Amino acid sequence: MNDKEPKNPMEEWQKQIQEMIRHSRFSPLDPGAAAGRAPDETSAPDNPETAKILQRIRSFNLKPREIRDYLDRFVIQQAEAKKVLAVAIGDHYNHVRQCIETPALREKEYAKQNIMLLGPTGVGKTYLMRCIARLIGVPFVKADATKFSETGYVGHDVEDLVRDLVKAADGDVELAQYGIIYIDEIDKIASASGMTGRDVSGRGVQVNLLKLMEETDVALQSQTDILGQMEAMMQFQRTGKPARRTINTRHVLFIVSGVFDKLAEQVKRRLQSSAIGFAAPDAETLKDAELLRRALTRDFIEGGFEPEFIGRLPVRVACDALTAADLEQILTASEDNILTQYRRDFSGYGIDFAITTEALTEIAERAQTEQTGARGLMTVLERVFRNYKFELPSTTIKSFEVTTNTIQNPEAELKELLRKNHLSQRDLLKTEITEFAGRFREEHGLELVFNDDAIEALVEQSIAQDKTIRAICEAKFRDFQHGLKLIANNTKRTSFTITREVIDATDRELSRWIVESFKPNN
Ligand code: ADP
Repeated sequence: MNDKEPKNPMEEWQKQIQEMIRHSRFSPLDPGAAAGRAPDETSAPDNPETAKILQRIRSFNLKPREIRDYLDRFVIQQAEAKKVLAVAIGDHYNHVRQCIETPALREKEYAKQNIMLLGPTGVGKTYLMRCIARLIGVPFVKADATKFSETGYVGHDVEDLVRDLVKAADGDVELAQYGIIYIDEIDKIASASGMTGRDVSGRGVQVNLLKLMEETDVALQSQTDILGQMEAMMQFQRTGKPARRTINTRHVLFIVSGVFDKLAEQVKRRLQSSAIGFAAPDAETLKDAELLRRALTRDFIEGGFEPEFIGRLPVRVACDALTAADLEQILTASEDNILTQYRRDFSGYGIDFAITTEALTEIAERAQTEQTGARGLMTVLERVFRNYKFELPSTTIKSFEVTTNTIQNPEAELKELLRKNHLSQRDLLKTEITEFAGRFREEHGLELVFNDDAIEALVEQSIAQDKTIRAICEAKFRDFQHGLKLIANNTKRTSFTITREVIDATDRELSRWIVESFKPNN
C-alpha cells in the first residue's frame, strides 16, 4: 500500500479503460470507421449455432396449427390463448422473413402483432411465450413493468430490456433483433385513478415503452456501461469486426401481461350498467377470464392506459384460471413438468420414485388452494420433498413410493421409510456375517459363533465406515485360524463364540484365549 490518499477505484478503472481505448485502433464511439465499414453493416455471425437459428428465422415456415401442437405438449388448457398466439407468432415471423427477403417491405406500413396476455398468476402466460421462443430459437427476456421508472434514474430504463435481449442472445445483435420481450405486471403502470398502481410514473413508462414497441434504435451501451464498452473494444480486437452500436426494435416482439383484476371489475360494472333494460348476460355470474375477454379498448383507457399504448397491443387474450383437474393434468401430461424435475433431481443420486394416482390428485387439490395457479404445485411438492431430498441421498434407499400419506404427512412417512431401510439394511448385513462364518468353517473347519452384541458391533462398524461386512471380517479375522487351531490342539474345542470384545480388540482377545488354553484344566 502506498501512503497516498486511496483513489476512487471506479475512477481508476474508467481511466485505465480510456487509456486502453486510446491506444487501440478502435474507438467504441465510431466502430465502423475503424474497420472502414458503415456502422450498421451486418456481419456474418461467427457462431454456427446462431447462423442456424438465423437461417431458421429466414426460412420461417411454421403453420399456426404446428405452433399450437407444440404448445400442447407443454401447456395444459389455455386453448384460446394458444390459438391466438400461434396466429400472431406465425404472422410476426412470416413478416420478419418477408422483410429479410424483400427489404423494400420494411418501408411499408405494418402493424406489429404485439400481444397482451391477461389472467391470473401461474396459469402459463410466461410459459406459453417461453415455449414459443424456444420453438423458434429466438432470445427471450422477461421483466416486471414495476421495475421501470420514466427517467431510468430510480429504476431501470425500459431500453435496458433491449440490451438484456442482446445479452440473452450472447451478444449477437443480429439474433437479438428478432427476439421476444415479455413485460409482466403491465396493469401496475396504469396511471389513472381507476387502477391503483405503484408510485411509478406510469404514463411516462408507457410512453417510453410505446417507442420501443413501434420502432427505435437503442444504443447497445448505456452511457455508464464502461464494461460493455470494454467488451466491445475487446471483441473488435479479437475479431477485427466492429461491434454494432445500436439495435433496432422493428422486429422485436413485445408481449405484456398482467392479472388485470381491477379491469375485470371495471368490465363487470360496465356490463351491469349497460345491461339495464336489455336481456344481457348476467355479469355477476361471469368468471374473471370471461369478463377480461369482454374488455374493450375504452375499458383499458378508463383504467389508466394511454390510448396509443393500448392501441399498439392489438392481440389481447385472456387466460383461464386452472382447476385442480388441470393442475393434476399438468403433473401427468405436460412435458417437463415440475414432477419430472424432481425425478431428475433424485435420479442424480440414483434414486427413483413411484407416485400413486391418488397422490397426484392430493397434490393438485392442495396446490389449488394456494391460489397461485401451477406455482402452487411447486409449493406443495417442495414442502413434501424437502427432507426427502436432504436425507435419502445419504442412505441405501434407491426407490420409494409417494402415496397420499406422503403428501399429507411427509415427515412421518419419511421417518418410517428411513426406519424400514435401517432394519432391512441391518438384516442384509447380518446375513453377510453368517455367510462369512460359513466360509470360515469350510476353509478351516472351525466354527465362529457371533453373539448378538458382536453382530450389532459389526453392523455399526460397517455402516460407520461404509465398508462391507465381508471386508471388515476378512481384515479382522485374517490369520485368526492359526491361533484358533493352536487352541483346538490344546483343548479340542472347534467352536468359538465371538463377542463384542473380540470385535473391538481381536488380537488381544485371541492372545488371551491362547494363554488360557495352555492352563492345565482347559
Ligand atoms: P404466469 O401466468 O404468471 O406467467 P407462468 O407461465 O410463469 O405463470 O407459470 C409458472 C410455471 O407453472 C411455469 O413455468 C410452468 O412450469 C407451470 N405452468 C403454469 N401454467 C401451466 C399450464 N397451463 N400448463 C403447464 N404448466 C404450467
